[in-house]
Order: sequence, then structure tokens, then C-alpha cells
Amino acid sequence: MKKQLCIVGSGISGLQLAYALKEDFDVTVVHANSTEKVRTGRVMSTQVHFGPTRTRESRFHMPKWDDHQSIKSIHMTIGKQKLFAGMLKKDALSVDQRHYYSTCMKDLASKGVTFLHLKLTNEHLDRLIEDYDLVIDCTGKSGPLFPFPIIQELSPFDKPQRKCITGYFLGIEPNEPLGVNVTVLPGSGEMFEIPAVTEEGPVTILFIMAVPDKELDTFKGITSSNEFTMHMKQCVQNFFPDIYKRLNTEEFALIDENAFLQIAINPKIRKPYVTYKDKFVVGCGDSVFLNDPITGQGCNLSSYCVEQLFETLIDYKHDQWDENLGESYWNRTKDFVTEITEWTNAMTQPLPEHVVQILLKGAENQEQADRIAEWFENPKRAHEAFFQKQESH
Ligand SMILES: Cc1cc2nc3c(=O)[nH]c(=O)nc-3n(C[C@H](O)[C@H](O)[C@H](O)COP(=O)(O)OP(=O)(O)OC[C@H]3O[C@@H](n4cnc5c(N)ncnc54)[C@H](O)[C@@H]3O)c2cc1C
Repeated sequence: MKKQLCIVGSGISGLQLAYALKEDFDVTVVHANSTEKVRTGRVMSTQVHFGPTRTRESRFHMPKWDDHQSIKSIHMTIGKQKLFAGMLKKDALSVDQRHYYSTCMKDLASKGVTFLHLKLTNEHLDRLIEDYDLVIDCTGKSGPLFPFPIIQELSPFDKPQRKCITGYFLGIEPNEPLGVNVTVLPGSGEMFEIPAVTEEGPVTILFIMAVPDKELDTFKGITSSNEFTMHMKQCVQNFFPDIYKRLNTEEFALIDENAFLQIAINPKIRKPYVTYKDKFVVGCGDSVFLNDPITGQGCNLSSYCVEQLFETLIDYKHDQWDENLGESYWNRTKDFVTEITEWTNAMTQPLPEHVVQILLKGAENQEQADRIAEWFENPKRAHEAFFQKQESH
């Protein structure tokens, strides 16, 4: 008989794991929201799936998406000075998670994965660990359900470093070559402009990361989609002239009234396994590795950890599942988790002078610009640039 696995959460981690594990194990996914609510509800994030994540999506036979909006480059501006557009090695893609998650949920259900619509609380946990050989906590930023220990040295902040303000908009002419447009306003925050695919067609995501109480932090109290749109237009006009030039003021609108979000993330990194009431439990994705979204790595790190957890579970398929398995999974993931976390935490602080110099060099040299674009698809390179400056630059 196949071992019984319960995945709690139907985000990128839970769904990609379900695809990876469904042939070898009996998989149940517990999800807080119905497929229809996920499809039509509030956006919960932005997302860019870089090359390695897309390769894993193919490996695990996940759905294919319209790739007319493939992301080919990273544009970089500091203040009002456009520096460069660095080319990615492999096209990236941003698919509205509402469309991505609901499509995967339907597809997996049709392929034999059991879905249980239930928002789990602490009262359910004892029963849950009794009923399954392994519970995997993929509850994302609202989790975790289990007491995975916090790793203090990777969790230096006691409050969010940015306010995340994002909307999915029509009425912005795409930049060329199509790419993620990063604008850094030192001391105030950042703007990420991301071409994306939704169920309704192409959109442009505008994603402001505002340093709390500084000049971009002006959306407090805005709850209606109309007010949000007006305020975003004003903000783009005031602070992001390059985007404003491409904004058609007649057509500028949210793609739907749920296509905006304000949230703040308090980053926390945890050891991704724990023994809870004598039963071994693991975590994957944001529930255990929660970083600030500033480097756009959350989905990509989740996907990386899914693959490592999959490989570990296959290695231990016929063995006892206990803390040895957990240690093996953590040993496989910890270097990458550490590199992404240290880079991401550094990005929320004023940029070190040597990094500013690297960015300025990108304006003079296309190869250097391409190397900087590679930071986002291979964050090891970013970590080297930030922390081992002498050797690599
Ligand atoms: C504003 C913002 C912008 C971002 N931008 C980017 C970006 O550009 N690129 C990038 O790679 N990453 C980005 N991220 C991070 C990215 O969204 C996450 O890393 C990614 O979604 C994590 O996937 P996950 O499956 O771990 O969690 P989630 O996607 O959060 O999924 C968790 C799931 O668990 C379910 N759940 C939670 N609790 C329970 C419960 N008790 N019972 C049952 N179900 C439960 C939830 O309903 C949800 O479906 C951003 C995040 C934010 C907030």
C-alpha cells in the first residue's frame, strides 16, 4: 500500500508537491478556500517564475501557460537614472496565482489527488497526524500550523521592512525588451513593474515596496479599488516618470476589483521539520522560509524546496519517516535558503557602496548588465556579489 501524505495548503508549494508526489504516494491536499474562491478572489501576491522554476514545472508535468508575455530581461533604474536592461538566460513568466492555483487544483483533482476543503485550526492537528503517514505544512505566510523552530541568525527583523502595495493594471504600454522593471528610490523604497498573464489576458503589475513612513508609504486606509487606482496613478506620476510616459490615463484601470493588495511581511526562517506529539512533520515554502518579497524569490525558493523534499521522500520511500529524513531535507536546502535570505535581507537595507558600483557598471557594459539580471534567476550569483565582492568582482 502507498504511504498516505497530507499537504496542508494549495499554494505554489502545496500544488507543486502534489504534482511531484502523486505517482509514488496517496496525496490529499487540504485547502482553506474553494477553487472558485481562489479563482475569483483577491490577489495575494505577485510572482515571477524564473528559468529553474519553469524547468521544475515541466519536470513535474504541471500545466503550460500562454507565454506571449514571457519575461526576457531585468530593467534597472536608480532614482530617475535608467541604468540598463540585462537579459535573462531563460525566459521567465508571471501567471496570476488566482488563475495558476485554481487551474492546478482542478487538474490535480482530475488526476486522482484528493482535495479536502477545510481551514485547519489547532483543534484538527491531533487527528491529522494520526490519519496520515506524513503531514506537510504548506500554509504559506499565514502559517505555520506546527511549531517549527525559528532560526534566529536568519531572522534578524522583528517587524516588516517594507509595506507591499500592488495592483494588476490595464493601460500601460509594455517596456522593451519585455521585462521586470526595477526602480530603486534610495531611502523610500522600490517599484517593480511586472508583465503578467491573467485569466483575462495580459496585464502589467505595479508593485510598490514602501519603506514605512517614507514618501511612498501613502496608501494607508485605502480600501476601494477606485481609490487605489487613482492613488497609484498619482504615485506613478510623482515618482516614476518612465512608467508614467507609457501609462494611458484613459485606459488605466485594475483588471478586476479584487486585483489589488496591501500587506506587510515579517520575514521568519524556521527549521523545516519538527516532532509534534511524537509524530514527525515537515514544512515547505513560505510556512517555514518566509522572506520579504523584495528580491522576487518566494515562489522560486518554494519550488526549489519542493524538489529537494520530493528527492528526499523518494530516497526514504521504504524507510521509517523520522527526524533523519528531516535533517536530510534541511541539509539539502539550507545553503540555498541561507543565500537567498541573506541577499533578500541585505536588499531591504541601504545598498552597500560596492553593490551600487556594480549596478553603475551595468550601465556601461551589457555583459555586466546580463550578469546582474542573472542574480534573479540564480540568486547564488547575487549572494556572491553582495558578500564576496573581492573574489567575484
Ligand atoms: C505582495 C507580495 C509579492 C510577492 N512577489 C513575489 C514575486 O514577485 N516573486 C516571487 O517568487 N514571490 C513573490 N512573493 C512570494 C510568494 O507569493 C510566495 O513565496 C509563494 O506564494 C509561497 O507559496 P506557498 O505555497 O508557500 O504559500 P501560499 O502561496 O501563500 O499558499 C498557502 C496556501 O495555504 C492555504 N492555507 C493557509 N492556512 C491554511 C489552513 N489553516 N488550512 C488550510 N489551508 C491553509 C492558503 O489558503 C493558501 O492557499 C510575493 C509575496 C507577496 C506577499
